[in-house]
Amino acid sequence: MTTQKVYLDHAATTPVHPEVAKVVLNYMVKDFGNASSVHSFGRTTRKAMDEARERVADLINANPKEIVFLSGGTEADNLAIKGVAEAYKDKGKHIITSEIEHHAIIHTCQYLEKQGHEVTYLPVDEHGMVSPEDLLEAIRDDTVLVSIMLANNEMGTIQPVEEIGRICREKGVIFHSDGVQAVGSIPADVDALNIDLLSMSSHKLYGPKGVGALYHRKGIKLVSQQTGGSHEYRLRAGTENVPGIAGFGLAAKLAKEEMEERVSRISALRDKLQYGLMQAVDHVKLNGHPEKRLPNNLNLSFEYVEGESMLLNLDMKGIAASSGSACTSGTLDPSHVLLAMGMKHEVAHGSLRMTLGRETAEEDIDYVLEVLPGIVQRLREMSPLYHKETR
Ligand SMILES: *Cc1c(COP(=O)(O)O)cnc(C)c1O
Repeated sequence: MTTQKVYLDHAATTPVHPEVAKVVLNYMVKDFGNASSVHSFGRTTRKAMDEARERVADLINANPKEIVFLSGGTEADNLAIKGVAEAYKDKGKHIITSEIEHHAIIHTCQYLEKQGHEVTYLPVDEHGMVSPEDLLEAIRDDTVLVSIMLANNEMGTIQPVEEIGRICREKGVIFHSDGVQAVGSIPADVDALNIDLLSMSSHKLYGPKGVGALYHRKGIKLVSQQTGGSHEYRLRAGTENVPGIAGFGLAAKLAKEEMEERVSRISALRDKLQYGLMQAVDHVKLNGHPEKRLPNNLNLSFEYVEGESMLLNLDMKGIAASSGSACTSGTLDPSHVLLAMGMKHEVAHGSLRMTLGRETAEEDIDYVLEVLPGIVQRLREMSPLYHKETR
């Protein structure tokens, strides 16, 4: 018997779209020139980069000149936060972010704190939502930057970014958003959302790994975090990853074209999975906002079960998911995101994140519905606490 393979970890990374893979290969093997060279090889890759820049800009309703290509979401977050902190240090040294940001933000802010900057970490409610009122209260005269993610990577909650951006604009504070999970999945218009800086990553939207971009609104000053050549408007020295950038560009174009279709198909499958599991298993809780969350995200807490044990058992059945209890591999601490939402340690430990994608099929969901309830039941049978509290 062959085990079915089901990939439900698209928040970690996505498979490269087959059309995108062809483009990446082309710019590795055939059109391989250095985009800074003046000869025809260089001109060909320069053109490919221009096109990619237009495509990424188009996905978020920006001007291509406002897109800087980087090595991924982590670098975009670093450039946004350190770049603004350094450029505006004479204006002030206060930064506001939230407790549920990705480590690329949290650890960068902690680094800046050691350099003498001050950081306020806004709390979230039980759905993982930042409150605009809290933000308004936290803004001071020396606040130079607010960084609140567009959608969370663990439970998919979509933040009230438009309102947050409006407050920042009124207060004259720069607004950065980590859009890595959201861009390509849901509409993300930087003008409509009042965003000044937006981080993006190719491998979260069916492009290759190791490439991303930072949108930076005209007029926002940034200090480059790397010295060298004058690539990328002097914001990112180093020969450009043309295969990756061209692939990212096509992935962005396809994301825009297919967005509506992807959202309706994927969210229907996600809902089927959610209701199916909630019907088959008791003591299950949905993590995140019931409506305002990414269409592909399902984060559930199964009481009396360890997320890690569920993951291992699912893996043996060929199902790849993720657990909120050890999002930083190697540690067994519950996720900082779930704890920030006020979740008890035991419940956070029983969380399971399943993130669907464009290639997820109905049979995949049926298979998980067939397998997962039995796994939970078997694990619970071994839990003394389960017997004590439920019998
Ligand atoms: C994946 C992710 C990142 C990091 O992006 P990389 O391209 O992998 O460096 C940053 N923020 C969020 C919200 C993410 O999901």
